[in-house]
Amino acid sequence: MSITLDQVTKRYQGAPVVNDVSLEVAEGEFFVLLGPSGSGKSTLLRAIAGLTGVDHGRIALHGKDVTHLSARQRGVGLVFQNYALFRHMTVGENIEFALRVRRQKAAERRERRKELLRLVALEGMDDRLPTQLSGGQQQRVAVARALAHKPQVLLLDEPFGALDAKIREELRRTIRQVQRELNITTVLVTHDQEEAFALADRIGVMNLGRLLEAGKPHELYAAPATRFVATFLGAANLLLARQTADGIRFGATPVLARVEKLDGREHEVVAVLRPEEIELAPTRDNLRTNFIANGEIDEIAFTGALERMRVRLADQNLAAQLSSAAEASAAPILEVTRTQHEQRSFPLQPGQSVAIGVRRIHVLPTPLSSYTVCASDQQAADRLAQHPFLVELAARMKTRIVKRVEPALANMNGARAQSPISGVAVVGARADAAAQVEWLLENGAAEVLVLPAHISPPQRVLIHWLDDDARRATLAVAASLLRHVPAEAVYVGIMPEGASESQRPFGVRTLLDARSEAQAVHGLEMRTELRFGIAADELHRQLTESAEQMLILGISNLEQFRNTFTNLLATPATSSLMVVYRPAEK
Ligand code: ADP
Ligand code: MG
Repeated sequence: MSITLDQVTKRYQGAPVVNDVSLEVAEGEFFVLLGPSGSGKSTLLRAIAGLTGVDHGRIALHGKDVTHLSARQRGVGLVFQNYALFRHMTVGENIEFALRVRRQKAAERRERRKELLRLVALEGMDDRLPTQLSGGQQQRVAVARALAHKPQVLLLDEPFGALDAKIREELRRTIRQVQRELNITTVLVTHDQEEAFALADRIGVMNLGRLLEAGKPHELYAAPATRFVATFLGAANLLLARQTADGIRFGATPVLARVEKLDGREHEVVAVLRPEEIELAPTRDNLRTNFIANGEIDEIAFTGALERMRVRLADQNLAAQLSSAAEASAAPILEVTRTQHEQRSFPLQPGQSVAIGVRRIHVLPTPLSSYTVCASDQQAADRLAQHPFLVELAARMKTRIVKRVEPALANMNGARAQSPISGVAVVGARADAAAQVEWLLENGAAEVLVLPAHISPPQRVLIHWLDDDARRATLAVAASLLRHVPAEAVYVGIMPEGASESQRPFGVRTLLDARSEAQAVHGLEMRTELRFGIAADELHRQLTESAEQMLILGISNLEQFRNTFTNLLATPATSSLMVVYRPAEK
């Protein structure tokens, strides 16, 4: 491996801006770090370069641990957005600067300079001053200068930032050519997905300090694992659907579209419909693909090659399924793009009615689809649905919050819920919260979030499961949640107080297994801690240590939960709690 990052964390004022990032970049690979502004890309790049230290984790270049080496000692070449050339030096002097510092002979320097100027297509420009060059040319010089001392790794931070579209494209091509010719391992940071697609062997998408997913561009586009990647890499319609044994259902409409993997349990899922995978036809019978709903053209924009439009769903039931951040006000709209060919064979005008079909549906593996606030009366439900932490979480997940009044929650005297509960059930923290949680789990909820009225956003999320049957689901929920919360994840393993010396290696192995499974299966990086004592006491102690924490607790047995955790929930809660329930399969 050329670059290896192992759980790299960088905090500013206690908050992680680079959060537990692990990554391997292969020899000669062109890796693009893509993410919105503020997601931690530059900080991570600076950590690789040695321009900033890290608070946790290790960085290795070509198998050598460089975590504590200075930038000079790491042998990397750097290019930034602002050209950062020495103004008073000529192009030639700029390029030779690093070689001069390293006391190379003049003849060798000249030779290298010539070679580099050819490489970036600036032959003969040696004697120009930076001010006599265009922005694009200055960036070429910056690239040549970064490569002068033959670094083994090239790092570029938004190198096209200040250039206009045509120049960007030219410079893009140059950088790609140089990278190929030298076969130099390269990491480029950008917020522009088009740039990422054009350059990358592999793309890593960052948000809120976390590296969410990494993969080949077409794989990430076709089969994203997360909402964020689905919507950041290209446009995507996210719809809530029900997954059943036979396939995917939108509202009352079963859709037979090809779905990659199905698991048996019927539950709510998040489906990704790319705008170009949607077909429009005059009637349902004219569709060549699977019908999902009728709609009406809302708006059309012509963008040259493609026609972009918004289609309003006519089916109110289905419209309600459209998952969206801005709950009630969200218009039930699908984004659709059509090629010239499609436009010619079925011209459309705003206001026209259409049948909507879909060629391909991708179901996200996330276990967290939406939130259902549950309370015994309307007023309490209204209040809880406006909980700032919940509102923020739902907005980040681009999902909805549904309110549900269940009078039975007031006393839980054996009454059943009116219908099975979809998505994550949410209740307020109160003295009898444990009984409420249990009632909700008995009535179909698979996850329950318990929210105290006043909490600060968590900076640390503790993860624990009471037995192994809940492990997988707990990790999946933790991974999904942590993509939307800028907090550090810590798996807490707990062994009985009297655990003998001989049992300790077993405890440590369990931690390491948990960590690798989280990483490999769910893309979640987490820290691990081994504690001794009784689980409920130990977790309680940790949660009361500081306010900015949250607990994700996996269980597979309600009785065990009742016996162990009633006390934890009965004390005035300062932290939020997510209970993940997966009964053991018989
Ligand atoms: P990106 O390059 O993805 O836009 P950055 O890595 O520059 O993101 O920044 C990530 C976050 O870290 C931002 O919220 C930014 O304000 C914060 N940050 C970066 N550098 C510092 C610093 N030196 N001190 C405090 N906060 C910082
Ligand atoms: Mg940046």
